[in-house]
Amino acid sequence: METIKLTIDNKPVEVPAGTSVYQAAKNLGIDIPVLCYMNLHDLGIENKPAGCRICVVEVEGRRNLAPSCSTTCANGMVVKTHTTRVINARRTVMELILSDHPKDCLTCPKSGSCDLQNMAVKMGVRNIPGQAYAEMSTYKTDFSPSIIRDMDKCIMCRRCETMCNDFQTVGALSGVNRGFMAVVAPAFEQDLEKSPCTYCGQCVAVCPTGALTEVDHTPKVIRALADPTKTVLVQTAPAVRAALGEEFGLEPGTRVTGKMVAALRQIGFDFIFDTDFAADLTIMEEGTELLTRLGKHLSGDKTVKLPMLTSCCPGWVQFFEHNYSDMLDVPSTAKSPQQMFGAIAKSYFAEKLGKKREDLVVVSVMPCLAKKYECQRDEFKVDGNPDVDYSISTRELAHLIKEFNIGFNELADEDFDRPLGESTGAGVIFGATGGVIEAATRTAYELHTGKTLKNVEFTALRGMEGIRSATVDFDGLPINIGIAHGLGNARKLLDLVRTGKTNYHAIEIMACPGGCIGGGGQPLHHGDTSVLKARTKAIYSEDTNKVIRKSHENPYIIKLYEEFLGKPMSHKAHELLHTHYFDKSSKDIFI
Ligand code: SF4
Repeated sequence: METIKLTIDNKPVEVPAGTSVYQAAKNLGIDIPVLCYMNLHDLGIENKPAGCRICVVEVEGRRNLAPSCSTTCANGMVVKTHTTRVINARRTVMELILSDHPKDCLTCPKSGSCDLQNMAVKMGVRNIPGQAYAEMSTYKTDFSPSIIRDMDKCIMCRRCETMCNDFQTVGALSGVNRGFMAVVAPAFEQDLEKSPCTYCGQCVAVCPTGALTEVDHTPKVIRALADPTKTVLVQTAPAVRAALGEEFGLEPGTRVTGKMVAALRQIGFDFIFDTDFAADLTIMEEGTELLTRLGKHLSGDKTVKLPMLTSCCPGWVQFFEHNYSDMLDVPSTAKSPQQMFGAIAKSYFAEKLGKKREDLVVVSVMPCLAKKYECQRDEFKVDGNPDVDYSISTRELAHLIKEFNIGFNELADEDFDRPLGESTGAGVIFGATGGVIEAATRTAYELHTGKTLKNVEFTALRGMEGIRSATVDFDGLPINIGIAHGLGNARKLLDLVRTGKTNYHAIEIMACPGGCIGGGGQPLHHGDTSVLKARTKAIYSEDTNKVIRKSHENPYIIKLYEEFLGKPMSHKAHELLHTHYFDKSSKDIFI
């Protein structure tokens, strides 16, 4: 590989050809401020926006300052990153950005984690000349079920556009207008609800200001907790435990399962349950569906479609409803673990408690913003009463813990309640890309072959590449598996499936980078893939530490079928645990 030698702040450095000055400086430990740049190289996206101009540096021999994010290193280049001229220019850029920005920092949802605010403080900006904002007209705030857009706070860094268009290929957000009115918005400045938005929240995860934030469900949760007539249950998704600690200063990848349970108990939830239980249930239903479809397909029934696609990611479901409405019979009909949990909590568990479903409030803690939208979908309600009442993100749970003044890091570990809190290692790996299909493979293999797996770890299904394939030997029957994370990768795989030229039997798709561990509701990582890798490691180490690692061996799942559901895909299981999809292509304003 060709390498380039240059000097940055009098330090010599050698980097691969094509490296940006920003990245080369970072390799030397030199911190250049950025607002629009994100290092998405590991996700297959080259991001050299040069939009905000905060990262300018001096390059010897050049008259103008250069944006370090989009300037490529050259042999013999001499770069200075913190001269008086550079500092002055950065400060002017910052003042211009702030002059066009609302000043409601005390109540802004991003207060405390706003990159713009932090940077302004670090640069010592105290006065804002110009104050253009005071005179300009403001935008109407756009409320969707999951995401709020406050375009007065948009600084046109276009990070959201990169994630929405380049990574996800969703096409809900792009730059419109010029000058002070320039913002990133859906086409024709429509609301998000009228766009093909999937609510994956990747735009929120990278937005450096309060322009894009999640819909906050915590006030409703607090109200429910204070209502003596309600029994409030909480379920926590697998990826939450691998990231929540970051909000309390712990290293990425620190598992905080026991502390999280203890905190939820202190907050006052009546029952602390685990979405991993419902992930095990999903495997029972989805795994059985796969084996049924496979059996019919192999016996020549051409009406049965393969590959079967997983269906537990609501961002992905929204994406195929918009873009692949001709293939609505391909995904599994199994509901997501969040919704399976809600359906069982408000039927089986309500019966056990002797309560009506209306007396229960089910709260979910998710790494995800699309789950807020999912739990409001009409098909997941009974007479208007939702199976899951409120979904809060990992970030919102962290806020709740801080609001209740709980010393999180000092908490002793506690365990989930039973019966809906017992789970296996298969349930927990749902949090990482490839985990759902690995969990399904563990169960489907044993159900199909009648043999016990010697090794439950299918490492060929793991990894961070955007699209992966593997063949698993089901005792002489080769099962071809595809995996994609990120909707841009999903689109590539789905376009192939649409041509009928693939030989996959099953495909797992998750909308977010790395799967749910990189979800839009997780602590903000701004595209740092080392954080995602650390969270993934935490997920697999929880699996390794579990006594039971296969969903069909979860004793409480076995009991649920014996006492209530009958068997997987029974009439009752179908009623409670399966769903159907909608053709949303005609509602898409782009079509
Ligand atoms: Fe939500 Fe996970 Fe799907 Fe992202 S990958 S949209 S976090 S379910």
